[in-house]
Amino acid sequence: MRIGVLDLQGAVREHMHALEEAGAEPRSVKRPADLAGLDGIVIPGGESTTIGMLLDEYGLRAPLSDGIPVMGTCAGMILMANRLAEGEQPLLGLMDMEVARNAFGRQRESFETDVAVRGLGGEPVPAVFIRAPYATRLGAGVELLAELDGRIVAARQGPYLALAFHPELTADRRLHRYFIEEVARSG
Ligand code: GLN
Repeated sequence: MRIGVLDLQGAVREHMHALEEAGAEPRSVKRPADLAGLDGIVIPGGESTTIGMLLDEYGLRAPLSDGIPVMGTCAGMILMANRLAEGEQPLLGLMDMEVARNAFGRQRESFETDVAVRGLGGEPVPAVFIRAPYATRLGAGVELLAELDGRIVAARQGPYLALAFHPELTADRRLHRYFIEEVARSG
């Protein structure tokens, strides 16, 4: 499986490495032509307002909304939503989901914890949260995969997998494998 990593801003290298360890061929994606032949793409964490602006500048908005399977982490999750709990900024709107940015508050800007993810099997996954969002509402067609203290931190809608945290910053590759094997393969 060839999986791209959107390489405009944010945690790109860590995802490339994680995808490789999970058994995929990672590719950096900077422009629409880089999407040719890919089975899926990761939108990394970073600053969602910046990535959203660059998507338009690089002409990537339309090709990323064309059904290619997507895994979005943190800022990537925000971009996949079709609305924000507060404020406005460019989004891809791939999933019927409302998201709140920087939603864990100042006391919990950055933390690591274990999260039980439905469908993964085995132990909960270690999850790094960095100024993380969470979903405040999921549409009827969106599957809830994980909650933390009653907040939605992982969800799936068909070929789209949204994670509020950073699986690429731990050594556990189950979520990258899940994306490659279950989400992208069926997309
Ligand atoms: N707080 C960032 C945003 O709103 C996301 C942080 C991250 O991706 N680690 O875009």
